[in-house]
Amino acid sequence: MQYLEPAPIKDRENPLESMMSRFDEAVRILGLSDEMYHILKVPARQVIVGLPVTMDSGKVKVFEGYRVIHSTILGPGKGGVRFDPDVTLDEVNALAAWMTWKCAVVDIPFGGAKGGVACNPREMSAGEMERLIRAYTKGMQDIFGPDKDIPAPDMGTGPREMAWLMDEYSKAKGMTTHGVVTGKPLVLGGSKGRVEATGRGVMISTLVSMAKLGLHIEKAKIAVQGFGNVGSWAAKLLEEKGCNIVAISDISGAYYNDKGISIADAITYRDENGGTLENFKGAEKIDADSLLTLPVDVLIPAAKEDVITMHNADKIQAKLIVEGANGPTSAKADVILKDKGIIAVPDILANAGGVTVSYFEWVQNRMGYKWALDRINRRCERAITNAFNQVYDTSLKYDASLRTAAYIIAIDKVATTYKYRGGY
Ligand code: NAD
Repeated sequence: MQYLEPAPIKDRENPLESMMSRFDEAVRILGLSDEMYHILKVPARQVIVGLPVTMDSGKVKVFEGYRVIHSTILGPGKGGVRFDPDVTLDEVNALAAWMTWKCAVVDIPFGGAKGGVACNPREMSAGEMERLIRAYTKGMQDIFGPDKDIPAPDMGTGPREMAWLMDEYSKAKGMTTHGVVTGKPLVLGGSKGRVEATGRGVMISTLVSMAKLGLHIEKAKIAVQGFGNVGSWAAKLLEEKGCNIVAISDISGAYYNDKGISIADAITYRDENGGTLENFKGAEKIDADSLLTLPVDVLIPAAKEDVITMHNADKIQAKLIVEGANGPTSAKADVILKDKGIIAVPDILANAGGVTVSYFEWVQNRMGYKWALDRINRRCERAITNAFNQVYDTSLKYDASLRTAAYIIAIDKVATTYKYRGGY
């Protein structure tokens, strides 16, 4: 289960506002009409459901559940379901748009969607969670569908909730429907390689961008912020490729060893110590935020949003930033990084390995077939590498950052497809 504390908004422009300002910039560079701007911006569908759920106390609590399908121009909606106290319809709207651009940039035939329920999973029992996700699924039974809208886990939900969602949907439709949701447990039609897929995509993005910058795999120093699913898998896979990870961090603090940290040891330590790196002895403990400004070649923020801001961007020494997290860099920080000549591989490309393997899960479900891990890994590598090369070439063509180039590709693809499909 993924659950992160919401970050304080440091630049007074939250990550979703930053995403919108990047969208606006790319639309301007592409010279799209006002009509097309609105077609791409306004969500296709917003659904709100009231969800009365009996809590363990015996009292009925009514939750509000949202599903926004931002776009189905490229294919069925695709996006996670977030269970978090701060979920609002506005946030779900923006996250759904984010999914549209992420799927488009890695060339997955999905549109963008997102769902959410304002609730606090940390205070809910397994039974309450099950009743809530089943009620939510029932409320959305005519929205979801393997050819319509395919949910997945997000903050506060995981494979357990996806299994309940798949079961409830299947009951409502009177037939087992694996392909209605991704991120399921392996026995229930989940995909091999899904757990590490986002970290794998970050590893691939890091290696291809290091090659473009002429950074030597074994000599370059790498710092990774966050040691959860994305950060620890990215670090482990990079270590296996011969990279030197000199700093890692989690909520307990940051750990730095200029000679390199054994990631295999750090993962074993974390797993044997209640999931944290607290008191890890393989490196010196340093202040958590100082990891971002260490003298390294590559920085991988893989913890949470809004960590590289106008307040610390000028202190960053890395030559390359690869965004494992969603929205780690604010739009204001982007300007400072560009002036310093720091290259940032944007989140919608760098962490798209997860949605890419989700797509493979859906494909396997539709085929009624299971792929071997090496096939999944090969295809994931091809998808991320092709997307990276396209983004890189587009950045040269428009003299734009990789981030702007990624948005240009995504927006252009959706706009062009819309023109072929047509409106009313
Ligand atoms: P996770 O909960 O597994 O791990 C988060 C890690 O960040 C933990 O180690 C936590 O201790 C650490 N952390 C939290 N606050 C920190 C801080 N202030 N400083 C340093 N470390 C801190 O979450 P995850 O699934 O690895 O997701 C991380 C980021 O990647 C999020 O932004 C998420 O939206 C994004 N993302 C995840 C996936 C995925 O498939 N899991 C896909 C795309 C994007």
